[in-house]
Amino acid sequence: MKPPKAKFLGDLFAASGVDGRNAHVRVRLAMYGVLLLLVALGGMRAWLSQHWQDIRQLDIEILQSIGEQRVLTQRLGVLTSQLQQQPGTSRTMTDELATVLLRSRNEAARLDGLMQQQVEREPFVAPEVLAALQAWQGDRDGMWGSLEPLPQVGQVANGALSASRLQHAQDAIALAESSAHALVQESGADILKRSRRVLFTIWVVLGGILVLGGVLAFAVVEPTARAVRRQYETFARQADHLKRLALVAELSSNAIAITDGAHRVVWVNEAFSRLTSYTQAKAQGRRIGTLLKARSADPARFAEFYAALRQNQGIKREIRIATRTAELGWVLVDMQPISDEDGALNGWVLVATDMTEVRAQQQVLRLAVDGAGLGIWHWDMVADTIHCNDRLLATLGYMPGELDMAAASWFALIHPDDQAHWQESLRHHLRDPDTPHRLSVRARHRAGRWVWMLFTGNVADRDVQGRALRMAGVAMDVNAQKAMEQQLRVAARTDDLTQLPNRAVVLEKIRQAIDRHQAQPGYNFAVLFMDFDRFKQVNDTLGHTVGDGLLRLIARRLQDSLRPGDSLVHTSDFAQMAARIGGDEFVVLLDDIRGDLDAEIVAGRLLDVLAAPYQVEGHRISSTVSIGIVTSTHAEPDADSVLRDADIAMYEAKRSGRARYAMFDPAMRQRVNASVSLENDLRQALALGQMFVVYQPVVQLGSHALLGVEALVRWQHPQRGLVSPVDFIPLAEACGLIDAVGQFVLQRACSTFEQLQQQLGPQAPPSVAVNLSRAQLRQPRLVADILEAVRAHNMSPQQLVLEVTESLAAQDQAVQQTLREIRALGVGLSLDDFGTGYSSLSCLHELPVDTVKMDRSFVSQAGQSEYHRVLIDATLRMARALGLGTVAEGIETPEQAALMLAMGCERGQGYWFSRPMDAQALVAWVQAGGVPALAPT
Ligand code: C2E
Ligand code: CA
Ligand code: CA
Repeated sequence: MKPPKAKFLGDLFAASGVDGRNAHVRVRLAMYGVLLLLVALGGMRAWLSQHWQDIRQLDIEILQSIGEQRVLTQRLGVLTSQLQQQPGTSRTMTDELATVLLRSRNEAARLDGLMQQQVEREPFVAPEVLAALQAWQGDRDGMWGSLEPLPQVGQVANGALSASRLQHAQDAIALAESSAHALVQESGADILKRSRRVLFTIWVVLGGILVLGGVLAFAVVEPTARAVRRQYETFARQADHLKRLALVAELSSNAIAITDGAHRVVWVNEAFSRLTSYTQAKAQGRRIGTLLKARSADPARFAEFYAALRQNQGIKREIRIATRTAELGWVLVDMQPISDEDGALNGWVLVATDMTEVRAQQQVLRLAVDGAGLGIWHWDMVADTIHCNDRLLATLGYMPGELDMAAASWFALIHPDDQAHWQESLRHHLRDPDTPHRLSVRARHRAGRWVWMLFTGNVADRDVQGRALRMAGVAMDVNAQKAMEQQLRVAARTDDLTQLPNRAVVLEKIRQAIDRHQAQPGYNFAVLFMDFDRFKQVNDTLGHTVGDGLLRLIARRLQDSLRPGDSLVHTSDFAQMAARIGGDEFVVLLDDIRGDLDAEIVAGRLLDVLAAPYQVEGHRISSTVSIGIVTSTHAEPDADSVLRDADIAMYEAKRSGRARYAMFDPAMRQRVNASVSLENDLRQALALGQMFVVYQPVVQLGSHALLGVEALVRWQHPQRGLVSPVDFIPLAEACGLIDAVGQFVLQRACSTFEQLQQQLGPQAPPSVAVNLSRAQLRQPRLVADILEAVRAHNMSPQQLVLEVTESLAAQDQAVQQTLREIRALGVGLSLDDFGTGYSSLSCLHELPVDTVKMDRSFVSQAGQSEYHRVLIDATLRMARALGLGTVAEGIETPEQAALMLAMGCERGQGYWFSRPMDAQALVAWVQAGGVPALAPT
């Protein structure tokens, strides 16, 4: 860094046009010069005055002297003329003449002297004066010459002077007098002229002084005044500026110290005192290095400082110092020399910035970056080099210093297939900063393998033209994520539970098969849609864990049996794939079969294989499957339709008795469409009054006494005739109509019951049982509806029995809670279809029921199957132990009735006693005596 020069003042002066340092010298010189000139002029004027005074004095004396000469000459003239008129000259007269003559001579000598002085003093005597002087001197000498002899003559001759002599003297006198007059004239004129000259000179000098004054005013005073004003303004500005600078320095949050050339502190600001606890008073005069070192937590670093200061070089370093709060802080110390105009060092400025917080933030950031395992990179686009942290290098397997940091070398590490992607992303970002540069690329690890890395970066700096100068960002190893993505991709195509391919894969494969079938005559395929016949029951009664286990076993069996070369499925010369597409639905795709027969063979074998009992968590489960088959013969051109048709065929298989397969034929589609229309019809059935309720008696097995009736719903369809609840109850459940149907049956059963009481009196059935569907049990209003029905028809709650299926009762807490609430009303609860739901007898006590209805299948098989007899026996014992009533359903023969009675069952219901009848028929039936009593044996 170039040391700053303290030439601020100089700059200001230069700006103002005044050489600050020499102005006063110039002003001073000019003033003294002018003063000197004035003194000289004054002196000269005084001297001139004196000089002229002297000359004037002489002039006066000369004029007096000349005047005297004239007077003496005139006197001589008078005396001479007297002498002429009085020839008898008296001695006195001649004496007087001699005296006057002497005086004239003396006076003339004095005048000569004066004239001599005058000429010396004033060399410029007019020539006329000199000529007049000479003329006068000549005439004077002539006069004296003519007068000289007169007194001697007079004395000698005793008074008789010759007239010629006198005349001669007279003439000489007249001549002298006139030349004296001329001299007076000339001298007067000359003096006058000289006076004028003096006056003129005085005026000239005065003018000179005035001119000089003007010159002084314009050349010196004015510029000086202007310079002074400018200087004043400059100083004022400068003072303002300095004040501001001082304020900045004073109030700066950076610690500032100024030292002299010997590093001794001259001034420190408040922040310096705050940072170091050295006040201005304490710091002043002390060496700055010593001050800092005393506070430093790392005195060793000061060697650098001293070295730099010794060499008069600026230095900028971060050092740790103990701050006033006695904490260790990081301070960035920037100490720079100050030089004057001539480059001589005359001080230092120290600016210390407290970096403690910044450092702490950096530390946090670094920890965060390290913790996040982030690589950091920085691309100097001017130098075209990359800087990065060790973490990023380590990700690529390098140690610091091992990798060439030129940008080109770095970019060369990117996988060739990702290069274009990288460049494009970069281009987009550089053009539009809002488009992030963020992409995953493979980078070459030092070991040669490829590492997936996610790079994100932003332009950090641009020049004035907007060109990017620097980019910075982070990079992270995303190998794990990439692997995960791969797994997810697989998972998206795999069924989690069974690890079989899922629906998406099946659809894709079907699509391919369709395409191939269309393109390649002779190529055939088949789709086998499988549904486990009793899976729902397993799930409902044994729980989902068992259900899941069962599904896994089914999947395993499917896969095993489809494996090429497997002994179970021998037609393995074509590709086969099993998939699970939801719930208990599996699909097998047979690829490249010879014809429909192949599909039927596989289906037949799968039926056998899958029907074998399963062992899941200690439960032995046996169930059949139903299979629907679509072959390329009837395949629609899209995969979804093919799958749907296979599903339809599967339902057909179920309808025709389960445990079988059905080949799809387009007529089946119509039947399904019919079921759709059945649903539409069902929606209107209640409103149109097509529903009604029939009642089947329940009797005491021993006495055949009527114990109650079970209400069973019927639907009289205008076209289809009587539709069984077995067909429409599940439909009503599926399309949300079950509540309405259930409510209808409940209301109708109760009102019929009330009516029967009125019609039959004591012969009337003592109770009525109404079936509750699973969906109804989830209905929040159920309990209230039941109570209302009972009250509305003047029934006691005990006269109403609600039948729920075994699987339903065991379901969840909410259902159990509803059941308990129903029990609490006093309404009876009967467990319907007991034995079909696989629930163990041991669960019976947990259910809030008071009657168990043994399923028809038990009753029908009890005659032949020992197994069923054992089960019935166990059930009856358990029910008795728990104080529950028992009903045997579906008694069709007197043997069955007898058997049930023999086994200890209390009540019975079935065609043997009575088929379900409408209310009217029931009344007739009761009135006719009901079931005839058993003939006593
Ligand atoms: P479920 O509750 O077991 O009703 C007894 C079924 O067995 C009735 O069939 C009845 O007609 C039939 N049945 C009675 N005695 C014999 C017999 O000796 N031999 C044979 N083979 N069958 C006999 P339905 O009326 O067709 O009812 C079938 C099922 O529909 C019922 O089985 C019940 O689960 C359900 N259901 C009937 N009505 C309603 C109802 O109103 N609401 C609800 N939610 N379900 C109902
Ligand atoms: Ca029932
Ligand atoms: Ca039943």
